Amino acid sequence: MVINQKKCVACGNCVAICPMGAIYVDPNANRAKINDDACVECGTCYRGMSTENLNPSMVRGIRKVAKFLRFRFEPEPDVCPTGSFEMNELEMPRLIRQIFSDPVVEHNSTGIKGRGTEEVKTNDVSRRVDVGEVGYTIEFGRPGVGVRFSDIQEMTHTLAIEGVTFESNNPITHLMTDKTRGDLRGDILNEKILSAIVEIKTNIVQVERVLEIVEKVTERIDTVTAVGISTRCEDGEDNVLGPLLDKLGYYYSRAKTNMGLGRITNKISFTEAKAVAR
Ligand code: SF4
Ligand code: SF4
Repeated sequence: MVINQKKCVACGNCVAICPMGAIYVDPNANRAKINDDACVECGTCYRGMSTENLNPSMVRGIRKVAKFLRFRFEPEPDVCPTGSFEMNELEMPRLIRQIFSDPVVEHNSTGIKGRGTEEVKTNDVSRRVDVGEVGYTIEFGRPGVGVRFSDIQEMTHTLAIEGVTFESNNPITHLMTDKTRGDLRGDILNEKILSAIVEIKTNIVQVERVLEIVEKVTERIDTVTAVGISTRCEDGEDNVLGPLLDKLGYYYSRAKTNMGLGRITNKISFTEAKAVAR
């Protein structure tokens, strides 16, 4: 994202719009600028403000006179009066910021916008998590903190040592060069994004250890995490995971329940697929 310096009149309206706090008004240049390292290319500043396309020289002139006469000439707070934001053409590795942060951009790897995964929201038809398995979503960077891929890799590395299975239909997994080690592409490690979700699967015995790892790694990385954990209910009830979380002392609430009313497109279940593979 760029701010056209010829157009900007330094009204400061855009500063509060940026979820990463990447926009500031440079008092020396008297223009708004973007901290490129902090910007995640989410497009909020570009799409989230109305534009008036006023003549910048005229606005600057009026603002100068207004300042001299000790009154203010300010645009409405949700308006960039001169339409100064411009989306620039991005290339990898910077492009990865936009792919993960701009909600209107689709992930090529999964065909889904935003964070690029349906998670277990469609589990009744996708069967990502089958009977006897436990699925996890580990979400990074929300709200308003962001995350670098190096910090995500710190988590995936540590989880890989524990022998977890990374969900194949997930954009972070697609960026892995070695799934057994949790390695991500080297060129993107310093890139920052608004948020991302790592999806893994284990058996029930590993739950305690996985949650412990997520807590420990979160303490040493520069972001925030939130964990979703899921299982398939038998006879409409979860008789295994819930009681285990209770025993381990975790507070949880049932966030989403799939009713199993969808049309099953994945005819062969994960358990059956594993049996066939054997
Ligand atoms: S693209 Fe997003 S992160 Fe970058 S300056 Fe605009 S609002 Fe901030
Ligand atoms: S809202 Fe537009 S004119 Fe005002 S500071 Fe931001 S970029 Fe400049």
